[in-house]
Amino acid sequence: MRSIVWFRHNLRLSDNRPLSLAAKEGAVLPVYVHDPTLSLFPDRVRQRWRKRSLWELDRSLRKLGNRLHVFSGSSCEILLKVATRVRAERVYAFRGLTGEDRALEERLENELRKAGVSLHLTGFDTLYPPDLAAEGRSSPWKIFTPYHRFCRQSFLPEHPLPAPSRVDSLPSLASLGGEEEVGGAGEVVSFVGFEPGEAGAMHCLREFLENSLAGYASRRDYPAEEGTSRLSPHLASGEISVREIVQRLQESDAPGKDREKFLEELGWREFSAHLLFFHPEMLVDPLKKEWATMEWTSDEAGFLAWKEGRTGFPLVDAGMMRELAETGWMHNRVRMVAASFLVKNLGVSWQSGSRWFAERLLDYDPANNAASWQWVAGCGIDAAPYFRIFNPVLQGQRYDPHGKYVRRFLPELSALPDEKIHLPRKQSSSADWERPASSQGYPEPIVDLSESREAALRRYRRFRTLA
Ligand code: FAD
Repeated sequence: MRSIVWFRHNLRLSDNRPLSLAAKEGAVLPVYVHDPTLSLFPDRVRQRWRKRSLWELDRSLRKLGNRLHVFSGSSCEILLKVATRVRAERVYAFRGLTGEDRALEERLENELRKAGVSLHLTGFDTLYPPDLAAEGRSSPWKIFTPYHRFCRQSFLPEHPLPAPSRVDSLPSLASLGGEEEVGGAGEVVSFVGFEPGEAGAMHCLREFLENSLAGYASRRDYPAEEGTSRLSPHLASGEISVREIVQRLQESDAPGKDREKFLEELGWREFSAHLLFFHPEMLVDPLKKEWATMEWTSDEAGFLAWKEGRTGFPLVDAGMMRELAETGWMHNRVRMVAASFLVKNLGVSWQSGSRWFAERLLDYDPANNAASWQWVAGCGIDAAPYFRIFNPVLQGQRYDPHGKYVRRFLPELSALPDEKIHLPRKQSSSADWERPASSQGYPEPIVDLSESREAALRRYRRFRTLA
């Protein structure tokens, strides 16, 4: 058998079912296609990551006697051309989740069939099947808790497959034409706190299990702590499988409540994938249809200040201006506060914020990002109620009580005492307190928190009456 393995969002050798099946059956041509038509948003930040990750994948394949073939263009045209050229009988791949992915699979299957090649999609790269309808119905689940409970009771986590010990290459392969350089480690600028590739992902998991899983349930909300796994960029590129993570989690002797909490967060990822499968339009349209009529403001200046971390609210600015811009990642608590500030205090649409995150995040995941933005805005399924408006000052005081996170990313505020660090001047009860000279350049708050909160509530209530 001669097969092509089409690497999509699964840049790894371990627990890679398409690769394992193809390698067992005969010779394999591993292929990756940069397909600009598949990304809804520009992804320059992730391109650098992917380049490095592909280089790592190629190196691993070479150790097994094969190599990666990289192309740019339409996935369908390229796979068809390559399959014909190398006389492949099958193309193996995981199924994709987005509407574009699924339309592509249908087109590809038809085109390949005409050329006498079969497309074998070996299921989704998830823990639970995302196409699982709610119990006894054909519609998707609407509430996370029963969904997660049902999945856990119904599906035993699959054992991850080991990486194949050999991946035979196609004999006497002629030049394929149009191939690109896989890239090189040397070209790549470093990523703060992250090491792209499968080995980096496994290292990240081991570190987390050894050092941060115990205590995860209580520390995960504190952005200054190393309290979460930071596995998200690896999961987004498929450098590690979620089944591998769950297997290692179950083998860990960390306290049960920490393992449970972590499994629950992975469960939110599964739930988001489930929602995207049933609602491919959710990347741009509200899940609750009536929200299409919600009026958002066009506060361009406010949106710009938010993007540039100049809102005058230290927790929001530390996240937006520095952590996201410098590292391509942001702590979950800060994402929630920054997102709530944008859609509620500034009244800017969740779609604008979601797009900005999609362009900037290393871990951008279409399902997680859209589901989370919709959760914050209130238009998602099982979303936060509309009247829940995070107060960035109180959130900062609660989750960054000594200002360690804010000081790390906004050094201009580092001389402020703990009790003042989250307090923009206008919100202070002693309105005339003097800022240290070093913090003088830090902006004044761009909105009054209680006025903008009231305005948001009025906007939301008016919408609910009209909807
Ligand atoms: P951990 O706490 O270690 O969690 C482990 C894994 O569980 C994560 O890597 C992730 O895959 C999953 N997970 C955790 N929390 C969530 C959640 N709330 N929803 C879905 N999955 C979750 N996550 C992304 O992976 N990509 C995104 O594009 C993304 N955009 C977001 C946008 C907003 C506005 C918000 C509020 C959250 C977003 N999240 C997104 C969810 C969450 O913030 C990140 O998954 C998390 O911060 C990643 O860090 P970690 O790997 O250390 O998480």
